[in-house]
Parts: sequence; C-alpha cells; structure tokens
Amino acid sequence: MTSNFDRHRRLRSSAGMRNLVRENHVRIEDLIYPLFVVEGSNIKEEIPSMPGVYHFSLDRLEEEMKEIAAAGIQSVLMFGVPEHKDYCGTEAYNDEAITQRAIRQIKEAYPEMIVIADTCLCQYTDHGHCGVLHDGEVDNDESLRLLVATAVSQAKAGADIIAPSNMMDGFVAAIREGLDEAGFVHVPIMSYAVKYASSYYGPFREAAHSTPQSGDRKTYQMDPANAREGLREAASDVAEGADFLMVKPGLAFMDMVLRLRESFDLPVVVYNVSAEYSMVKAAAANGWIDEERIVMETLVGFKRAGADLIITYHAKDVAKWLAR
Ligand SMILES: [Zn+2]
Repeated sequence: MTSNFDRHRRLRSSAGMRNLVRENHVRIEDLIYPLFVVEGSNIKEEIPSMPGVYHFSLDRLEEEMKEIAAAGIQSVLMFGVPEHKDYCGTEAYNDEAITQRAIRQIKEAYPEMIVIADTCLCQYTDHGHCGVLHDGEVDNDESLRLLVATAVSQAKAGADIIAPSNMMDGFVAAIREGLDEAGFVHVPIMSYAVKYASSYYGPFREAAHSTPQSGDRKTYQMDPANAREGLREAASDVAEGADFLMVKPGLAFMDMVLRLRESFDLPVVVYNVSAEYSMVKAAAANGWIDEERIVMETLVGFKRAGADLIITYHAKDVAKWLAR
C-alpha cells in the first residue's frame, strides 16, 4: 500500500474541520446596500426586474432605513432619481436636490451610517450621458467641472464617501482638488476605477432612468475585452488620490478584482450589479437554484478574488442569513 500522495481530504473531513480551515468569510460589514430615492410622496415602488429593490420617496425612506440598520448593514450607496432632467444635469449639483436631501435625512436619523454618494451626471441629464455633450460627443474636461460641483454639494449634504462613477479622465484629481478647496479634505474618494461598458447594467438603468438617449457609453467606459487597460485606469486613480478602487461589474470581471488586489494596497470594492442580481432572482423564482447558497458562493468568491467590500442588492437577504 503506497502512501505516496497527499491526503487533502483530511482537512475536509467534518463541518468543524472545514470551519477551522476556511480561508475567506463574508461579514455584514463588508456589504454596501444601494438605495434609490425619487421625488414625490408616498412612493415605495418595486423595480420590476429587481424583485425586493424599491424606489422610495423621502417620506417612505425611513421604513427602509430602519430595516437596513436593524439588519446590521452599516453602509449605503445613494442614487437619486430627479424628476427634472436637463442638458447639463443641474439637479446633480443643486444643494436642495433629491440626492442631497436624502443624504441629509439619513445622516440626521442615522449618524453612524456610512453614506456613500454616487457622483455622476447620467441620472440628471436629459440625454442620459455621464457628462456634458458637445455635438454628440461627451466633453471630458467640461464634465469634470460639473462633477466637482456635484461632489462638493454631496459632501456638504453630509456624504461620508464620494464615489465618482462617470469614467472621465482625471475625475479623481479634479474631485480631490475640489473637495479640498471646499474644506472636505477628510472625505475619501471611492473611485469606480475599472468600470466596463457592460450589458449587466440593464435593470439598473430601468431603476435609475439613465439609459442614454443616443449612442452608448463606450467612449468612456471600458471595453469588456480589456484587462491591462484596467490596470492603467486604476494606476491613474491611485496617483490622483483615490482612497478606494472599484471594479464594476463583478462576476464577469473577477480577474480584475484579483489584479487590483495584487497591484495596489488600497481597499478594493466590487459592484455586484443589477443583472447579476436579477438573474439570481429569476432563476430562484423558478426553483432552478438554491438562492441562498448561490448568493453566498458568489460573495465569498468576491472575497477570495481579493475584494474587501461588496456593493450588492442581496445585502438585506445576506444579513438575515448571516444572523441565523
Ligand atoms: Zn453615469
């Protein structure tokens, strides 16, 4: 009888043994829950393609916040959906706009909650692009000025973290400078450093009413075929003063999470996006998958790839499962 091989199964022999040697864990503190606020009153409207995710008007937001806080979730990512959209996205940097009011309301009631503000223009412009359009082209440097104004306005409202997502060149440098000049040196920037022009955003665009009216976002968001380009994007953001680096979407881009983890020392964030959520929900509703096990396997996969933080619509469900 030869013993000339390794006995890997020793460490998998019982639940206790497996618990003992488990390398990665999902903690409730790792999860960031996205929130959609809309104007109007008495609105709690489910997003059809994202069961369990709602649009809330400010007067109904408290119901959701109570549930989030009770679940132990400590960070939310804020998306405001304004009623009024115009060519240059005025409502993005209006101190009294929906996003700013929502941030103030949450910070007043839940001062400990980390409120992350998505800083972009696409939900606020009538053309749906993430910047200023000139002759159908997104003008990079013009867009930076509006992004800075948006970031400063969100910081003024009490945002704990500014999360620019529009993929203009130099957005981290411009926002850092703008925040510093306005006295917000202590507010960190979570850069959507590696954001792909992805088909996985479909349900979100329904949620945020942010589908571009013409063309697409391929001149600013990245080509899904490229990995090395993502490292160049991230390196620029690090040099410009980013405090966190994000990869978006998650599942099809796990290699990018690992690459960022290995190349940089900043916290790495992954955005488990809308279609990733919708596909799980649809399959679970059909009884084709075990939702809890699929979700936990996905999230621990992000951790294994090197993500520190995970933005996910599953956060409230996960909180319940972890608490059992
Ligand atoms: Zn955008």
